[in-house]
Amino acid sequence: MTRDPVELVIFDCDGVLVDSERICVKVDAVIMADLGCAFTEAEIIERFVGSSSEVYTAAVEQRLGRRLEKDWQHKYEHLYRAALDAGLTAVDGIAEALNGLTAPVCVASNSDHDAIRRSLELAALSHHFEANIFSAADVTTGKPAPDLFLHAARSMGVDPGRCAVVEDSAYGVRAARAAGMRAFGYCGGLTPASRLEGPGTTVFDDMRELPGLLAAVTH
Ligand SMILES: [Mg+2]
Repeated sequence: MTRDPVELVIFDCDGVLVDSERICVKVDAVIMADLGCAFTEAEIIERFVGSSSEVYTAAVEQRLGRRLEKDWQHKYEHLYRAALDAGLTAVDGIAEALNGLTAPVCVASNSDHDAIRRSLELAALSHHFEANIFSAADVTTGKPAPDLFLHAARSMGVDPGRCAVVEDSAYGVRAARAAGMRAFGYCGGLTPASRLEGPGTTVFDDMRELPGLLAAVTH
């Protein structure tokens, strides 16, 4: 079957470009304990990695049995910042993958713009993306809704059917499939392959393979 060539590769940020999920899950656990709401690290990985802030807040409120203030996460932001500043690195093999791609690239993340830019700078990846950064803050509904990926494609001037999405979470591959885009599920991080698999989805565990996998779907 001949398929449309990939004209845009949309990268998730956390867990795909930067190895932040391992760090953030530990901070999440500290915050949950502080709130008096016991989620284990395994539950956090299963339920919250790749989720939007709304999903995270709703689950915490449900377990606590009370509502949280609208900006409850604000007082904890310094914990993430300090942990990421101290230990954030690029995902293994991503620099080689980005150097090996010929199609244009952009970032589409549920994080806010400041956090995305900061992470890319810490991991020395900013130059690959420059201004082509899209945040869930730009749309009404974050992943797993398709809105953010569709917004990125529209902004970059590429038809969704010619976009590929690289994701590391179940929410992210769902969003890509809902947007009608080819999904590449990276299982080299916290999310197991079984949670990424699905129609139109290629699961892989070594970022260095990405240029070859993308080239393979275009022929
Ligand atoms: Mg992610």
